[in-house]
Amino acid sequence: MQQYDVVVLGGGLAGLTLSLQLKNAKPDLSILVLERRENEATTAAHKVGESTVELGTHYLREVLGIKDYLEEHELPKHGLRFFFKSHTKDDIASRVELGPRLRLPVPSHQLDRGTLENYLMWLTQEKGTDLLLGAKVSNVDLSVEAGHQVSYIKGGEEVTVKCRWVADASGRASVLKRKLKFQKPMEHHTNAAWWRLKGVIDIDDWTDNKEWQSFLEPGLRYLSTVHFMDSGYWLWVIPLGSKNTSIGIVADPAVHPFETFNTYEKAVEWMKQNEPLAYKMLEPLGQGEGLLDFKILKHYAHHTERIYSTDRWATTGESGPFLDPLYSPGTDFIAMNNSWLSDLILRDMAGEDITGRVSIYEQSHIALVDSWIPVYQNKYLLMGNTQIMVIKIFWDWASYWAVPSHLFANKAFTNLRILKDLFAAPNSPGRKFGRLHKVMQDLFLEWLPFENRIFSNRYIDPFDLAVLRKFQEEIEIQRGPTEIIEQIEKNMCILEQFAVAIFRLVSAEVNGTAPGIKVNPYTINLGKSENAMQLDTESPEAIAPDPSITKDVDVMWFYPKAAMTTA
Ligand SMILES: Cc1cc2nc3c(=O)[nH]c(=O)nc-3n(C[C@H](O)[C@H](O)[C@H](O)COP(=O)(O)OP(=O)(O)OC[C@H]3O[C@@H](n4cnc5c(N)ncnc54)[C@H](O)[C@@H]3O)c2cc1C
Repeated sequence: MQQYDVVVLGGGLAGLTLSLQLKNAKPDLSILVLERRENEATTAAHKVGESTVELGTHYLREVLGIKDYLEEHELPKHGLRFFFKSHTKDDIASRVELGPRLRLPVPSHQLDRGTLENYLMWLTQEKGTDLLLGAKVSNVDLSVEAGHQVSYIKGGEEVTVKCRWVADASGRASVLKRKLKFQKPMEHHTNAAWWRLKGVIDIDDWTDNKEWQSFLEPGLRYLSTVHFMDSGYWLWVIPLGSKNTSIGIVADPAVHPFETFNTYEKAVEWMKQNEPLAYKMLEPLGQGEGLLDFKILKHYAHHTERIYSTDRWATTGESGPFLDPLYSPGTDFIAMNNSWLSDLILRDMAGEDITGRVSIYEQSHIALVDSWIPVYQNKYLLMGNTQIMVIKIFWDWASYWAVPSHLFANKAFTNLRILKDLFAAPNSPGRKFGRLHKVMQDLFLEWLPFENRIFSNRYIDPFDLAVLRKFQEEIEIQRGPTEIIEQIEKNMCILEQFAVAIFRLVSAEVNGTAPGIKVNPYTINLGKSENAMQLDTESPEAIAPDPSITKDVDVMWFYPKAAMTTA
């Protein structure tokens, strides 16, 4: 029976990148990737998951080292771009638009998943990975003592191989999760439908308003991941390097039942009702051969009880947890998952006892997913409220750039000293980060009944806020363990100021509190929900306004502001 160090179940993005990461680190590791698809992937209409953001991009470019491929064959991305609720949705130029205006210092990409996965298959085989197409995993027998046995069917025959490690990268097939029964429901019930259209679609052409078109350099809007947003949904437009376009609807069934967009015909009708301009521009392109595919996914979010085991098995990618595609974090989670997993495999292969690390990595990974849930849970209900969404998006980006992206780019997730200093104590910066994030997400929901104004004719650029610009620019700065902890502590202080500055404006509007009020950021609330806490405005933790952060936060406030006074 053939023996491998690692057998990877599934050759999608997670499995292929894991094999590459392992081979880069230890070229003599023997790896077998089993992929049930018979042939090479098709371009454009292969898989969903085309837009990358900073953390995942860093992984692809710097950790896996495929920067040259990405620059030559995939599109550079010009950030995430949002168009909000409007009375005049058939006039794109009049909608409130949020997105970067000038070229970005930190790269990201729009991926044609077919082209990318074909390249990754080729590259990992070049490095010595055995990869079989048309090989469907039929059974996994886990035995630490005798060695795991993986069986697969290829060409009608069943073959069994032995291995030290099994990495489940089978996506939603979730081979190990089903076998070992560690499924866990995720209380987030949104659905998605997506399709690919032949040809280039540039939203700059959706109006003849020259002033609006020239506000950005030609071609930059085209390179953004575009979101058209309103209550309960967003519709994406993503350009692909194969000169095709990806379109998708993601919606909360409480506002948009899945049955209203779960076939192509219904999705087109749904656009006619909700996004009339997109309907007008896209419907003709989907006729005949213009429509390359149409796919749906009901209730795509799922959780997991387990990820890494001392028995030398693990899950990676969607075979573990999956949360939500808003902000395009799928590749980020694969990056973190594969980095934890390859660290465990490499240490184990070097003879190290990995028991402690397995437990720390699993707890950290699951805690990370849990802390991310409030970013999405019930938040589709906010999507028709421009002022709330603008502030939420900026808050979510600030948090993402200030802490997880910076930690990942500094390889901090596999450094036990950093993990301990950041997460072990109840008042450690990492734990405070989770608490502050939850407080803010609750604030956005609490604010909802008080904020419903529809705005128009505004452009808002995240990089007009010095704090966002600084966080994003600093992601890739390399720091030693002591410096990274200090930096996260500094970033947490800025985030606390940012949170309190947002709260001051919201609370002044809703509750009439003094605009310069001192507040402990961890007690922020509007006092409107059932379990409302009392605001702490007196203790040493209560923060006074910081003029530079206040100035930044004012940029995203659409209302006239009350004069600043100290409470
Ligand atoms: C609506 C939506 C939009 C998204 N948008 C984005 C985005 O913009 N950016 C982003 O980064 N992420 C996005 N994602 C997430 C992204 O799609 C996933 O993170 C990514 O595709 C997961 O990769 P994977 O390798 O885990 O799974 P997959 O890509 O599904 O790969 C699993 C592989 O396993 C194979 N397989 C399954 N069972 C077996 C078996 N028994 N034997 C052998 N092989 C098997 C399958 O054929 C497949 O190739 C989105 C997700 C959704 C639902």
